Amino acid sequence: MKYSAFRILKEGLTGNKGWTPAWRDPDPQEGYDVVVVGGGGHGLSTAYYLSNKFGVRNVAVVEKGWLGGGNIGRNTTIIRSNYMLPGNEPFYELSMKLWEGLEQDTNYNSMVSQRSILNLFHTDGQRDAFVRRANSMFLAGADAELADAAQLRKELPFLDFDNARFPIKGGLFQRRGGTARHDAVAWGYARGADMQGVDLIQNCEVTGFEIENGVCKGVQTTRGAIKAKKVAVCVAGSSSRVMAMAGMRLPIESHVLQAFVSEGLKPVIPGVITFGAGHFYISQSDKGGLVFGGDIDGYNSYAQRGNLPVVEDVCEGGMAIMPMIGRARLLRSWGGIMDMSMDGSPFIDKTHIDGLYFNGGWCYGGFKATPASGYCYAHLLATDEPHEVATELRLDRFKRGHMIDEKGSGNQPNLH
Ligand SMILES: Cc1cc2nc3c(=O)[nH]c(=O)nc-3n(C[C@H](O)[C@H](O)[C@H](O)COP(=O)(O)OP(=O)(O)OC[C@H]3O[C@@H](n4cnc5c(N)ncnc54)[C@H](O)[C@@H]3O)c2cc1C
Repeated sequence: MKYSAFRILKEGLTGNKGWTPAWRDPDPQEGYDVVVVGGGGHGLSTAYYLSNKFGVRNVAVVEKGWLGGGNIGRNTTIIRSNYMLPGNEPFYELSMKLWEGLEQDTNYNSMVSQRSILNLFHTDGQRDAFVRRANSMFLAGADAELADAAQLRKELPFLDFDNARFPIKGGLFQRRGGTARHDAVAWGYARGADMQGVDLIQNCEVTGFEIENGVCKGVQTTRGAIKAKKVAVCVAGSSSRVMAMAGMRLPIESHVLQAFVSEGLKPVIPGVITFGAGHFYISQSDKGGLVFGGDIDGYNSYAQRGNLPVVEDVCEGGMAIMPMIGRARLLRSWGGIMDMSMDGSPFIDKTHIDGLYFNGGWCYGGFKATPASGYCYAHLLATDEPHEVATELRLDRFKRGHMIDEKGSGNQPNLH
């Protein structure tokens, strides 16, 4: 079924009786060309691009819970391509371009809103670093714009420019950045993949891999064994646990990241704003809630809920840049499990086991990567060659000494 304004009008006039489910609910078949493990944003976008762009349609996505129940439905919805390093920036800019055509591509309203992102700076040294980052962005074809404090005072008068400890001296805009409705992204990709015949199998947990003589031949699941020519793991926060079943130890730790939403307010924040002297980012949803977050909880965990010290820390960050936020009431908060890599950058790669592929290490930046991650993973699965913007996202980069350390924090996953 194609969605359109005409269709909404017709259904509205005829009692909304013609809508059909957005995807089927199939049982697993005996085998597939590709089995994607994990029905989050990245697994679903991989299946979508495999079937729609690379012509590989004998595909299943196996998901232990329900589609979109993981981090894809838990993030703070920020999309941007304001990275600096050559291993990252072209990849995220490809993602930004795919976001820009996503709704037309999938015929689904994912509420992609290029309302801009602004990274504030508070010192001269920080300004110089942002200028350097902006120049790297230009080289990859992205947009960037430096604003001084006088311009920001006009655009965002509610910010605390004269805070004694963290005075705001300016900021780096990416006007094409913004937000998208996170769960609708999963649903759009799911529907688009299903329409090409991909089986989306929910409540089906992978419990092991069929590996014979160094070749992966399928997966064991709670709904029986499924054969596969290629198995593509894409389980974000569960990466270490799932790959351990194939005997692999990853350069990844799992940590909780929390998100917060206030009561609904009248429109006040036009785009996404990030604090440059601590970790705090905020935007306003179309329903009016202020959506914000900050640092990960600083210890390893697989729990999908966080702890109070981080709630306090995040709220302090908010108060430091916009004290008026102290008047808003916090409505709800939740947590997700982040697959924090050692250098803060992701992996899209083959493994040493033939037929077993790995996508993960997204840290807390994987939502914006959803389109490019799926596209590049599908490229790797279909051609056995990395996509040109993903050649550096390899598992052996630590062994080779080629880390992609965007923040320059070293091998310290909780600092990225
Ligand atoms: C609070 C929060 C805020 C965030 N904010 C942002 C942001 O603003 N911008 C941004 O770019 N990123 C953000 N992120 C990060 C982003 O959400 C993730 O990096 C990204 O969603 C991870 O990829 P995914 O969508 O495939 O993960 P998920 O949706 O978690 O998908 C993985 C799936 O694998 C399934 N799975 C696990 N084990 C198995 C198994 N054994 N068998 C079968 N299935 C299995 C899980 O059930 C899950 O559905 C945030 C994350 C959180 C938690």
